[in-house]
Amino acid sequence: MEQDLQESALAVYFHIPFCLSKCGYCSFFSEAYSSAKIQSYFSLLKREIVLYQGQFPSTRTADTLYFGGGSPSLLPAAQISELCGFFDYPDTAEISLEINPIQITPAFLAELKKSPVNRLSLGLQSRLDRELNFLERKHKDKDTPARIKLLRDYGYSNISLDLIYGLPGSNLEDLERNLDGYLELQPEHISTYLLSLDESSLWQRFGSTKASAVQEVEEDYLADSYALIRRMLTEAGYLHYEISNFARVGYESRHNLHYWHSDDYLGLGASAGGFLEGVRYNNPANLEEYARNLDAGELRPDRELADNLKMDYIIMGLRTAKGLDRRKSIQALGIDLWQEKAEALARLEALGLIIRDEEHFALHPDAYFISNAVIGELI
Ligand code: SF4
Repeated sequence: MEQDLQESALAVYFHIPFCLSKCGYCSFFSEAYSSAKIQSYFSLLKREIVLYQGQFPSTRTADTLYFGGGSPSLLPAAQISELCGFFDYPDTAEISLEINPIQITPAFLAELKKSPVNRLSLGLQSRLDRELNFLERKHKDKDTPARIKLLRDYGYSNISLDLIYGLPGSNLEDLERNLDGYLELQPEHISTYLLSLDESSLWQRFGSTKASAVQEVEEDYLADSYALIRRMLTEAGYLHYEISNFARVGYESRHNLHYWHSDDYLGLGASAGGFLEGVRYNNPANLEEYARNLDAGELRPDRELADNLKMDYIIMGLRTAKGLDRRKSIQALGIDLWQEKAEALARLEALGLIIRDEEHFALHPDAYFISNAVIGELI
């Protein structure tokens, strides 16, 4: 690691596609864990980095690194450090690891402390055991406060907690209790997810009764849940800086902000997506195919058409509370959205769904829950 590096906007994402077991609601690409599989995958990741850095020198310097999955905390800490070591980054770099609560033990943290990881994102999902059981999570709520304390004892001062809401059988009182439980833990960041099932999830594929129960949860209840989350977290002093994300001042996820600002990001690993020098790409969600691409030296596979870039820029930018900046969007897209979308902007503003001036436009917070529909009017 070096000091005083030239500022880089590159975000690096590592996808670690292994889990101890598959959660029925999940549609991320992951396979059953074995230490042999993770070892050979680690070698593939290193090959991919070397290929990119040979062809794209700009990928040698990073601003944020993020280990996601899957369950990236299954990767030994020494290997996390080795992967980080391929990049030059400043002391202030944000280096995040998603972590499963059941892995939080003194032995695990003693090893992890030797790595440069300085931000932990916990798949906590809920503080209600009934919901954890429904989601087939392995941890129990009674252990959660001690686990967070352990993270603090080991010096982790940037902790993000995931919260899944909209579960069948839960009501607003449950959600309020759940949120109180989150606030007691005093995390720096909270990411919220509405439970929705992709066709590739196990519950959906095997026609589980849980899948039909999820689909039957009423839209009004979901909208009220979102409003309650927003109210309780903002009243507790969190910034609602992105549609689904809340942070203490200064603890916004810098890595995700790179995505939302359509900055370059290098996605590494099977199923990872990236955006590099104007090209958006997607690695195959298949370990053999991913390895074959590397054997063939093929980088940035499955490229998207440039036409999609404008759409992605608008969709991603409007997820943030700050929205789109006119000067930056002209620089990035070569067009003035204020002129090109003048009619739609005027209509949405009259409906109170967006806020705008000559230099910025953003979704009105009241439109966050229906953001897809509103953004759809602009793309
Ligand atoms: S929810 Fe997380 S732990 Fe569960 S299968 Fe998906 S990636 Fe793995």
